[in-house]
Amino acid sequence: MAFSRSARLAALTTAAASFLTIAASSAPTPGAPGIGDPYFPGLGNGGYDARHYDLDLAYSPDTGRLDGRTTLTARATRNLSSFDLDLQRLEITRVEVNGRRAVFTRDGDEVTVTPRDGLRKGRHFTVTVTYGGVPEPLGGPIIFGSKYGWMKTGDGVFVACEPNAASTWFPSSDHPADKATYDIRVKAPRGLTAVSNGRLVSTYDKGGSTYTHWRESRPMATYLATATIGKFDVRTGRTPGGIPIYVAVDPVLKNGNGVDVYAVTAAATDYWSQVFGPYPFEETGAIVDDMPEAGFSLEVQSKPAYSAVRNETTIVHELAHQWFGDSVSVARWKDIWLNEGFATYAQWLWAEHQGTRSAHDSFLAGYDARPADSAFWQIKVADPQRDTMFASAVYQRGAMTLQMLRERIGDAAFFKLLPAWTRLHRYGNADTADFIRLAERVSGRQLDDLFDTWLFTTGKPTL
Ligand SMILES: [Zn+2]
Repeated sequence: MAFSRSARLAALTTAAASFLTIAASSAPTPGAPGIGDPYFPGLGNGGYDARHYDLDLAYSPDTGRLDGRTTLTARATRNLSSFDLDLQRLEITRVEVNGRRAVFTRDGDEVTVTPRDGLRKGRHFTVTVTYGGVPEPLGGPIIFGSKYGWMKTGDGVFVACEPNAASTWFPSSDHPADKATYDIRVKAPRGLTAVSNGRLVSTYDKGGSTYTHWRESRPMATYLATATIGKFDVRTGRTPGGIPIYVAVDPVLKNGNGVDVYAVTAAATDYWSQVFGPYPFEETGAIVDDMPEAGFSLEVQSKPAYSAVRNETTIVHELAHQWFGDSVSVARWKDIWLNEGFATYAQWLWAEHQGTRSAHDSFLAGYDARPADSAFWQIKVADPQRDTMFASAVYQRGAMTLQMLRERIGDAAFFKLLPAWTRLHRYGNADTADFIRLAERVSGRQLDDLFDTWLFTTGKPTL
């Protein structure tokens, strides 16, 4: 993110029943309401692993109403008598597990689903939820500085959900530690374009509606999903490096800022592929919408979402996130510097690549500009706390940490480390300790003091 200004049903066979009788500890029990993230105790769920989401959405921009049916295929990670989904505010009309109607209860943002029979550990099951309502954005000036999530625009909707707004528009295990693949189908009024993740499977008009099907076949965190709808000029092709590209720009923004979003997206995707390792997704691109209320851009998987025409440095930031954040995702939200520190550092690398400023000078500019008594230095980068997880220190001091690391271990080790990181944790999750371990392995050095100073200690470090 960048701010401007910034089972199958486990039919209880005789064998399973006797297994359960013998091993009392594995009798089916309720799943956990959260995945265990201290910043967001209710986000994600315990007892299963989300594998694939099928989203069927119908959106009416006139009324703002969304009607949806989501089928989640998941694997039980223990014997379950019930399990939870995250869904905020929308009304549920029906829940089925493995095609059979299931009982559900709601408590705040938690939906507890009780299938007719228990779900067996290791087995896949499907849960289908039919729901609808008018989704509302989250946030505001106090928390995270901007509204975010499902945001109505003049001609449709802009959807950018970090960190916890995916569950305002589809029932899910809404935490980046539970990634899954997606099929996203959108019905919208004829003439509007629905833009989502991965590659376009089909789009056609029928009656007064346009039906669009997108498929993201690489694992994706819930917050990186989008179904942005509106009038768009779409340009497709390939980057000079051969990566398919899809850029959608709201026609009212034509010539905005004098930035050629298509060209910058193509160039940055290719350049980062050289620096960070192979591009992790099937397509690159951009969604540029007119959404003044969203004071940010988001690294939506495969196509960053910009709430206006943003500048080149924002575009290179969001594209760097395709490696740092989207492919390699945080294990817990306190690790957010692994996304934002790296994407900010990528901006410094881009300036270096362009020959406008070295990363060392970018470091010094940020370091010198902030006196020791600045609140900036009071954020612990590797555990910034929920309400300040997008504080500038997470971005800037995170990037400073990487520059200090680079200067300690040298360019050769540093530029071996970055692609090693994206290769080791590709499509997965990682935490700060994983990064420190890899940095020490690749460089052959003991780096505790450096990371303690820059990530885990408040106060302005001395140089
Ligand atoms: Zn970012």
